[in-house]
Amino acid sequence: MSDDAVVALDVGGTGMKCALVRPDGTVHHAERHPTLAARGPEAVTANILDVAAGLAARARADGLNPVAAGVAVPGVVDEATGTAVWSSNVGFRDVPLRDLVADRLGLPAALGHDVRVGGMAEARLGAGRDQRHVLFIAIGTGIAAAHVVDGKAFAGAHGAAGEVGHVIVRPGGPPCGCGARGCLESVASASAVGRRYVELSGLAGVTASDVVARAAAGEELARTVWTEAIEAFADGLLTAQALYDAGIVVLGGGLAESGEALLAPLRTALDARITFHRMPRIVRAALGDTAGCLGAALLALDTLEAPS
Ligand SMILES: [Zn+2]
Repeated sequence: MSDDAVVALDVGGTGMKCALVRPDGTVHHAERHPTLAARGPEAVTANILDVAAGLAARARADGLNPVAAGVAVPGVVDEATGTAVWSSNVGFRDVPLRDLVADRLGLPAALGHDVRVGGMAEARLGAGRDQRHVLFIAIGTGIAAAHVVDGKAFAGAHGAAGEVGHVIVRPGGPPCGCGARGCLESVASASAVGRRYVELSGLAGVTASDVVARAAAGEELARTVWTEAIEAFADGLLTAQALYDAGIVVLGGGLAESGEALLAPLRTALDARITFHRMPRIVRAALGDTAGCLGAALLALDTLEAPS
């Protein structure tokens, strides 16, 4: 119905992006709140439930009919049971978040993984909307990815599909947060690029975007560091392309803000490595940091279509 809306929350380590979204994907109202992760997982859960209930009330006050709720969280998510299994930055340990939200709101609810639902939103509403096979890669502190086919993100048997950031591209290379060495994330994430430059230059506090700017200005060391990262990224992407044969690769996260400074050399580097595979289009994400919230809304809308 035209006055229906879903409640959508994208819960991050520091903030929550929240919205009331209509069935056609348009945002009726958006708001942001602190996650309050420092107060512990129980406080975060209570906060999520309060914000969701507030949004449902806001919908009714605006003459809308809240019909479902969708919540996206980081970490390990069991989408089938609606459980936030584990999260390092929010502290979740087996929280049955979907049922808690459904009980509090008296509405059907869905729980999803932040990057997977963000990829879903980019695939259906954003940069990948004219393609069936989309690989979404978020490059920030880490590198996370989602493989989306026909608008559906694949979670894998254990909720860990599409972890392109942990493809090993430099065996024996820098240690990764996952415990391995030389993962793509350990050499080509925004933090890895900043760290590498600091290591080689001896300068403190240089970020990946500083490195990109210095490289563009012609600084030799910055160009070397940036090229190393692009080459590693192309190696990881070649493996991803061998596995997924994506029609389009959508790059999001902080490092994608670099735009063509990232995209152009990456296209060239991947093209140089491609043998029998087909070259995907490589583009920047279109939805920015609202992708996760829109994806949570899509998840909520999907629950209404699925037979119960
Ligand atoms: Zn790793």
